[in-house]
Amino acid sequence: MHELIDDLKDIKLGIFDLDGVIYRGDSLIPNADNIIKEFKNHSIKVVYNSNNSTATRKTYVERLNNFNIKTEISDFYTSASITSAEITKIKKNAKIFVIGEKGLRIELQSLGHTIVTKPKDYKAIDFVIVGLDRDFKYSNLAIAQKCILEGGAQFYATNADSTLPVARGLEPGAGVMVNALMTCTGKDPVRIFGKPEPFGINMILNDTQISAERTCIFGDRLNTDILAGNRAGIKTIAILTGVTSMEMIEELNNNSKNSNLSDRNLLPDIVLNKLDDVFKKN
Ligand SMILES: [Mg+2]
Repeated sequence: MHELIDDLKDIKLGIFDLDGVIYRGDSLIPNADNIIKEFKNHSIKVVYNSNNSTATRKTYVERLNNFNIKTEISDFYTSASITSAEITKIKKNAKIFVIGEKGLRIELQSLGHTIVTKPKDYKAIDFVIVGLDRDFKYSNLAIAQKCILEGGAQFYATNADSTLPVARGLEPGAGVMVNALMTCTGKDPVRIFGKPEPFGINMILNDTQISAERTCIFGDRLNTDILAGNRAGIKTIAILTGVTSMEMIEELNNNSKNSNLSDRNLLPDIVLNKLDDVFKKN
């Protein structure tokens, strides 16, 4: 068994971002499967926290199984599942108009909410919830706008990522849809449930009953993964296999010396080129 680097030797819970850390597009990041196995051999609990709301947690179990990583539905905290859980605390059995994909709709329906696709009465819609929608339509944007402006529905979002890492480069992220609705309603979302907001990490700490001091997050994006982890008081590890480069971190580091706390919160405790570097070299 490999030995963990000293900074991580007291860790009992590892929260892993997916896109850019475990895989990129349809490709496993080399050796990520073995690293996850090694963590479990060290009795470190592993969970996955993704801002991607397009797939259900069941789909993620299958996706990781294809990469030879064994998981259960309860190991996943997606912005869709986190949004569904938090929305249910605000109102049970709500009527919801969704800009988003199947993952978000199914997670909401699984907790008893009704997805309305063509509202007859805009006032009957409780919430408009926006996530990544790769089939984004003007007509749906117009319905969402009416639900909010004419019906008084409350506007929530799964996440506001500007981009989505895919196998070769970047595509537009959920923030594009969120900003479209902000523009045509003049309103901000009441809440955004994904990273960098604290809902997911708080839910994970509560479910696992492991303390923040013994928890770390592995992420590739500073303004979601690392910011969320720093706000939650857990150890933050930037992995450079996704959207962030060492140059970006160095530049931020130089700038942050004379800037405010919120910028410093974007800086990770540890930077690793790849997940393999969590273990000491033999
Ligand atoms: Mg990522």
